[in-house]
Amino acid sequence: MPSAPKWLFDVVERLLLPKIPLMEVSIVEQLSPSVKRIQFKGAFETLQFQVGSYLDFRVSGTEARRYTISYIDPQKEILEFIVHLHGEGPGRWFMDRLKIGNKTVVSAPRAHKCYEKSFKKYLVFGDETSLALACSLLPALVSNNHEFSFYFELAQANQDVPELLGIPNCTVFAKNGSFHNEKWISNLPFMESSASNDTAFVLTGNAKSVQVFKKVIKANTKAKIFSQGYWLEGKKGL
Ligand SMILES: Cc1cc2nc3c(=O)[nH]c(=O)nc-3n(C[C@H](O)[C@H](O)[C@H](O)COP(=O)(O)OP(=O)(O)OC[C@H]3O[C@@H](n4cnc5c(N)ncnc54)[C@H](O)[C@@H]3O)c2cc1C
Repeated sequence: MPSAPKWLFDVVERLLLPKIPLMEVSIVEQLSPSVKRIQFKGAFETLQFQVGSYLDFRVSGTEARRYTISYIDPQKEILEFIVHLHGEGPGRWFMDRLKIGNKTVVSAPRAHKCYEKSFKKYLVFGDETSLALACSLLPALVSNNHEFSFYFELAQANQDVPELLGIPNCTVFAKNGSFHNEKWISNLPFMESSASNDTAFVLTGNAKSVQVFKKVIKANTKAKIFSQGYWLEGKKGL
């Protein structure tokens, strides 16, 4: 529900308030001019989280936007997000203006199924909006001994961000529309080695890139695909 009348958001918020802890901004870190890590403190131990879980923030009177939880430590009462500040939408401005001490209420976390222990190899693809998902997946990929690679399409100014976040096995591509090109994707070296059914692809970020990449994987491999477009050119929220 990216947009709804103000009265409806007010009612939902009143119903949620007793069940969802209030989150208070505790750290704000600018990882690049347009990528920001935001840490919140709150009593999160009663909430259910999985790898890839996301929340809806009410970013204006009538709009909500989705953001993935990049890290959670319920004991230390810490919850973190990595947000891409892009364009002039209400999500961008809400996240841009958050300062230490600001308090906010969010929806209950929702699961995004993007991980199964049984797959040997993982290839995780996305853009700036997928960096939080990558941070959320990484501990499971490492502790369960998967072979894994991350592929990001990033603006030039954000190309060092995966390294700043400590994301290993990472290949960064220019954000130039290559992932809208079926032929270009099918020539990527990993497509051949991903032909078996022990591989899983996790595709998020630009919905058009996700759609084209998914089509190529389906045509060339037997791999499992977990996918979710996070934003679509010209569409508000998703
Ligand atoms: C399940 C889920 C999890 C998500 N997790 C994250 C996350 O962890 N971090 C994060 O930053 N985003 C995440 N997103 C994406 C985020 O919700 C969208 O980018 C959202 O549209 C931002 O809202 P906005 O108000 O700034 O822009 P909107 O008002 O929604 O959009 C305005 C315009 O900007 C375009 N646009 C929106 N986002 C981008 C972008 N990133 N780059 C280029 N153009 C864009 C839209 O297509 C539209 O044309 C997630 C989305 C989903 C569905």
